[in-house]
Amino acid sequence: MAAIEMKNIVKQYGDGFPAVNDVSIDVEDGEFLILVGPSGCGKSTLLRMIVGLEDITDGDMVIGGKKVNDLAPRDRNLSMVFQNYALYPHLTVYENIAFPLRLANKPDSEVDEKVREASKTLELDEHLERKPGNLSGGQRQRVAMGRAIVRDAEAFLFDEPLSNLDAKLRGQMRTEISRLQKRLGITTVYVTHDQTEAMTLGDRVAVLKRGVLQQHATPRELYENP
Ligand code: ADP
Ligand code: ADP
Repeated sequence: MAAIEMKNIVKQYGDGFPAVNDVSIDVEDGEFLILVGPSGCGKSTLLRMIVGLEDITDGDMVIGGKKVNDLAPRDRNLSMVFQNYALYPHLTVYENIAFPLRLANKPDSEVDEKVREASKTLELDEHLERKPGNLSGGQRQRVAMGRAIVRDAEAFLFDEPLSNLDAKLRGQMRTEISRLQKRLGITTVYVTHDQTEAMTLGDRVAVLKRGVLQQHATPRELYENP
């Protein structure tokens, strides 16, 4: 069973051309899927429909074998990592990672155990008392992922997380995300308009054009058959 199944997904805003037009994609358990294409091709809209931030006009979204069309974002057990990471500047790294557990009213002992475990995996254990403003870009990225993993989410979703960074840092962060994703083995859907990012990060790449799925293949297959 695929972790995420998009079945004939359509999104129509108003009466214009569909932003997403009959897209079907399976994301396997532990797979890193890239959604790529030019600005306006429907990538963010598709990602937002997976997360539940956007209603689906037609088709079915199935996560972990369960149809989620009518489920609110908080009931889908997914973790979205935003472009600016959306960290709380006044909270420590510890409390930033703990945040979803606090929201869920978990007992302190459980919060502590999960935060320690995540920060060890992410090599943040020496920075737990620092605030985001004093961290490097890479460390902030790891805090954002820490917050995502303490929830035991079914998947990570990234919307152009690196597009505000300069080329050098972007390269470093790309390596970092790829390494962490493989280590955690968590299903990931990642939106970008950057071809290089798509070809270096993805296990598979889904290419969208004007809302239509053009190709869905491994980077190697795309190189050999562009
Ligand atoms: P991408 O992420 O690939 O840049 P989007 O998913 O943001 O593309 O947008 C796809 C299309 O849907 C574009 O034509 C965009 O203008 C349109 N669109 C996106 N969001 C809305 C909205 N809230 N209302 C109306 N049209 C929208
Ligand atoms: P991106 O290309 O980074 O996805 P956009 O500029 O397409 O960013 O979208 C930014 C926000 O504006 C999104 O929340 C999207 O839903 C909304 N939006 C995009 N296009 C339209 C549109 N034609 N009408 C109304 N809202 C839109």
